Amino acid sequence: MPSDAIVKCCAFRREAKGWTVSLTAARTVPPPRGGRRAVGVDLGVTTFAALSDGAFTPSLKAARRAERCLRLAQRALARKKQGSTSRRSARATVTRCHAATARRRANHLHQASARLVRDYDVIAIEALNVKGLARGALAKDVHDASWGRFISMLRYKAEWAGARLIEVNPQYTTQDCSGCDARVPKALGDRSHVCPHCGLSIDRDLNAARNILDRAGVGPGLGNVTDGACVQARTLVCLNGLVKDP
Ligand SMILES: [Zn+2]
Repeated sequence: MPSDAIVKCCAFRREAKGWTVSLTAARTVPPPRGGRRAVGVDLGVTTFAALSDGAFTPSLKAARRAERCLRLAQRALARKKQGSTSRRSARATVTRCHAATARRRANHLHQASARLVRDYDVIAIEALNVKGLARGALAKDVHDASWGRFISMLRYKAEWAGARLIEVNPQYTTQDCSGCDARVPKALGDRSHVCPHCGLSIDRDLNAARNILDRAGVGPGLGNVTDGACVQARTLVCLNGLVKDP
């Protein structure tokens, strides 16, 4: 608990493995850090988060992995007689399976969002319609990846740390070429971006992450960011042999 925090309320919650105590505290928000290190983040299913500088966070697939454990536990529960002691313990096992999955997922999201806020001062991300996506064909993966929760964690962690989170228009971030801005249509299964106009050939998610950073308006030449990020962004451009005037 930070020393300047004032505890406002406290809640006890009973969970499968015991009790959880949550404390809500008020504290003054630190002033914004001077923007130096900027990054674009593309959230995906295959890769949880691809960053515009080429780093990435692997997908957790917590629920998928826990599915087998859950299936076995649920099958065992179905065979138990109503009202019996063994049924009660089988039910507890199912609850424990669910709780373990939720804990693993929350841990992953906390670590990934904390790392981003620690390593970057300006974070650009797509303004996602998670509710719309969660109804589509990828519903299970979207739910598993918990993008909505991740973005809200990023939002408050950034605020606490004085970092900036910029949400950009998500349209065509995958299709557009981050090198020359031409629209390159792709199918869902195309894992790489190959531009017939400028010859840029990079990972699909990396291309999207660079477009997201670009749209946040903190990239090279826009004057918002001091030297560090500009130099970094220019280096990226040079690495791909592109002619993109900053
Ligand atoms: Zn191109």
